[in-house]
Amino acid sequence: MSYLYAHMARLAPALLFTVLLSACSEPPLHRDQLFAFGTVIDITLSDVTPQQAEKALEILNDDFNYMHTTWHPWQRSALSRTNSLLQTGARFSVAPSVLPLILRARELSRASDGLFNPAIGQLIKLWGFHSESSDTELPPDADAIKALMDMRPSLGDLVVDGITMRTANKSVYIDLGAFAKGYGVDVAIGHLREIGVHNAIINAGGDLRAIGTHGSRPWHIGIRHPRSKEVLASVDIQGDESVFTSGDYERYFEYKGKRYHHILDPRTGYPAADTTSVTVIHSDGATADAATTALFVAGPKDWHRIAKQMGIKYVMLVATDGSVYMNPAMASRIRFEGAKPGSIHISPPL
Ligand code: AMP
Ligand code: MG
Repeated sequence: MSYLYAHMARLAPALLFTVLLSACSEPPLHRDQLFAFGTVIDITLSDVTPQQAEKALEILNDDFNYMHTTWHPWQRSALSRTNSLLQTGARFSVAPSVLPLILRARELSRASDGLFNPAIGQLIKLWGFHSESSDTELPPDADAIKALMDMRPSLGDLVVDGITMRTANKSVYIDLGAFAKGYGVDVAIGHLREIGVHNAIINAGGDLRAIGTHGSRPWHIGIRHPRSKEVLASVDIQGDESVFTSGDYERYFEYKGKRYHHILDPRTGYPAADTTSVTVIHSDGATADAATTALFVAGPKDWHRIAKQMGIKYVMLVATDGSVYMNPAMASRIRFEGAKPGSIHISPPL
């Protein structure tokens, strides 16, 4: 087995976490990279002509640029316009480029009991995790966190009527950082299909959706170990599935020996405790993306209940003590690469 992983890691050392592992004997792959949503988007196409590959790349480049600039919560964009108008409390027309995302995110947030909560943009900013360039080193003031949490920002506070929206809750600021990548990957896969590409992977910094196969074989996907650069486990994908992972290693700072990472518990205002990573396999990327964040926050004790509510069928959670939690269907697909985790807990079926 040739590990394309090693090659990809050279191209983008810290970014490609969930990786494609592939075999030499299959048809050649067309591969390219873009940059959007603050990460490398790695595109792999199989069974395409050079013309189709060129066309695909052109389309995906346009798509990702558009989505990146339209859904950016903090730079000038349709989403930041929405956020400023929400602050006024008055009713306004929402741009059609963001309304469907917000409505979909609201449903998923509700199904997660608010653990996936894209209305906590102001909290994310307070922690300094909103900007790619900010180099936060200090946890925010506890009173500032409490003041924000007391206002309970939630997408449930949006009053939507057709294409208009308003909210009376001034703490609502929409940040789709836990969701837009998944939604974007779905849009991109839809676009590839429209031009006749049916065997592909779009991998956004380790979060991917795969369609079709690689020749006669399923796509073979590696899941990164949350505490090393090694592959923790692998899984085969055939047909149409998304593999998404949320991890505490993606963005964090250390203060007085403690790790403060970017996945925040909307109930406390602090980084979610007890989890280091969660991997979800689901048909669409948007649901998988929202679910990894929600299940990360839910942690080892509550992930099963929330996964059920969100309609998720495959979960693997790595807890801070290194133990692994999976449902039986996930356990039957996962192959650990290298040393098996010390303790593996298999839950009742989902
Ligand atoms: P992900 O890697 O998909 O889990 O997304 C993490 C990003 O989503 C963070 O960098 C924040 O911008 C945002 N975020 C953090 N915590 C939450 C949460 N509980 N619900 C929704 N978005 C969150
Ligand atoms: Mg997510």
